[in-house]
Amino acid sequence: MDRVRQTEKETSYSVMPRVVVTQSDSSGDDKLERILFELEDYQISHGSLLKIPRALTDLESAVAVAHPIGVSVVPTRFPRLHFEHAQDIQPFFNELYMSVSEDYDWLESIIRPLGEVDEHVGKLWSIWERVREKGEVQPLRCGIFRSDYMLHYNQKSTEGQHGIYTDPSDQVDRSVLDSELKQVEFNTYSCAGGTHANIVANMHRYLIHKGVHETASLPANSSLMSIVEALAVAHQAYGPPISQTCQAAILMTVQPNNVNICDERPIEYALLERKPPIMLFRVCFGGAVLQKCRLGPNRELLFQLTPETVPIEISVVYQRAGYDSHEYDQKGIDARLLLEISRAIKCPTILSHMAGFKKVQQALTRPGVLERFLSSEKAVGTLRHTFMPQFPMDPPEDGDGDGIMIEKITRDRKEATNYVLKPSLEGGGHNIYGADIPDFLDTVPREARSKYILMEKIHPIPMHGVLVSPESTFQGPVVSELGVLGTCLWRRKGGSGERPQILESSGAGWTFKTKSKHVEEMSVVKGYGCFDCPSLF
Ligand code: ADP
Ligand code: MG
Repeated sequence: MDRVRQTEKETSYSVMPRVVVTQSDSSGDDKLERILFELEDYQISHGSLLKIPRALTDLESAVAVAHPIGVSVVPTRFPRLHFEHAQDIQPFFNELYMSVSEDYDWLESIIRPLGEVDEHVGKLWSIWERVREKGEVQPLRCGIFRSDYMLHYNQKSTEGQHGIYTDPSDQVDRSVLDSELKQVEFNTYSCAGGTHANIVANMHRYLIHKGVHETASLPANSSLMSIVEALAVAHQAYGPPISQTCQAAILMTVQPNNVNICDERPIEYALLERKPPIMLFRVCFGGAVLQKCRLGPNRELLFQLTPETVPIEISVVYQRAGYDSHEYDQKGIDARLLLEISRAIKCPTILSHMAGFKKVQQALTRPGVLERFLSSEKAVGTLRHTFMPQFPMDPPEDGDGDGIMIEKITRDRKEATNYVLKPSLEGGGHNIYGADIPDFLDTVPREARSKYILMEKIHPIPMHGVLVSPESTFQGPVVSELGVLGTCLWRRKGGSGERPQILESSGAGWTFKTKSKHVEEMSVVKGYGCFDCPSLF
C-alpha cells in the first residue's frame, strides 16, 4: 500500500527515531488501509492529537493546527497474567512511595549528596530546605504515580531463539508467560499519557465492535476518570476556602507552547462536568505563577485570574510542568517555593517529586531498604521481584566489589551493551544506552559520575506490531511498555520517618506504549513510540 514506505534500513533509528517501515505484507494492505481510514477519523474526532503551537511553526494560520499522535494500528499481544499482576501490585507501590516521600532523613541521605554533583537536583533540594525551614501548613498530599514495566525474558539474547513473535505458538506463548514483569522506572511527578492511553484503548475497542479488528480481549481503561477522581477527592479534602470571599479551584502548572494539551485539557473539562463542578485553571510554570499567585494571611494560595476579579483560592496544585532543569531559573525557583509553602495540597510535594529520581529507585533495590518502608513481607517480596539490578556510579572504595565490577563494565563497550546509564532527569532523551556508555563516560569528570545510575537492560521478547504516526508506518518486531497509574491521598505524620496515614490509594488505569524493538527510548510525544492497547492472551 502507498502509505507504507518501505526500507530495509533498520539501523536508521539512531539518527531518526520516528517509526519507519521495515517490512510490509502486501496481502494485508487492503485490510490495513481500511483500519487506517477508520483510525484517523477516530483520532481526529477524539483528540488523539498533538498540538502544533503557533510559536513553533512557520505556518501562516489564524487557527492552531494539530496532528495525530503515534498509535498502534492493531493491538499488540501482551500476557494477561502480567497485565493483571501489574495492576494488583500498584497499591504496594503507592504505599512505598508515600512512605519514601515522608522519610526526610532517608531521602536526605540519597538526595543531598546527589545535589552536590547535579545542579538540577541541588536546586530542588535547596527549595525543599527552605520549605522545611518555613514549616509546612498543609498536612495532606496527593499523588498521581505511574509505574512502568517491560517483560524480561531471562536470556541475554532472545533473538534467534524465538525470532519475531508473529504467529502465536505454544512455545513462544510459554516463553512470554515465563518472562518476568520488570520495572523500568517509577514516576511520581507530572505523569502524562493517561488521557491518550484511554482514547487509544477506546479506539481499538471501537474498531473491534465495528468488525474492523478481529475479536481480541482488550481491557477497559479508566485512566482519565481515575485522575479526575483523585484530583476531585483532594479538592474536597482541602475543605472550604479559608478566605470566605473566595471560590476554591485547582491549579494546573503547564509548560509554555505545550504540544500535549490533548492529554491535559480533558482532565479540566471532566472536572467541570462533575456535580458540583470543579474549576481548574492552567498557569505556566515560572514567571506566570509569580505574577498570578500570592499567599494570603494563612498561606492560602490566591490565584488572580484577571486584575479586576476576586482572587480564587487554590485547593490543589497539580503539577504538569517543572520537571525540566531549564525551568528552574530564578523565577522557576521562586515559583516552586511559593507553591510548596502554600496551604494548597500539592500533587505532588517536592519531596514526592524527588522520590521519583532514578537514584532513589536504585537505592530502593539495595538489601533491607524496602523493609524500612513497607509493613508487609509479601509487599516487600513482590515489589523486589520487579526490580532489575541497578548500581550507583559512585567512585568505588577499597574492597567495593560492585564498584570494581561497574568500573569494568563501563570501560568495555561489549560489557556495557547490557546496561542503561541514567541521570535523575525526567521527560525522556537523557539516558545513555549500551555500547555508547564508555565513550560517554569519558566525557564526564570522575566526581560527576555519581549523578548517574547503571541499570541492567530488560530484554522483552519482540512481538509483531503495526504502528503509525504522521511521519510513517512501521510493521515488524516491537516491544511494549505497560505503565500502571496509581492515585493516592495521604496525611503526613508528625515525626521524621514516621509512616504516613493513607486516606485513599488505588490503581488508576494504565498506559501501554509500543515501539520498534530497535528504538531504545520511549516517549510518544517526542516521536519514539506509539500509544497502544494490549491484546491480552
Ligand atoms: P525517562 O525518565 O527518560 O522516561 P526511563 O527510565 O523511563 O527514563 O527510560 C526511558 C526509556 O528507555 C524507557 O521508557 C525504556 O523504553 C528504555 N529503558 C529504560 N531503562 C531500561 C532498561 N533497564 N532496559 C531496557 N530499556 C530501558
Ligand atoms: Mg520513562
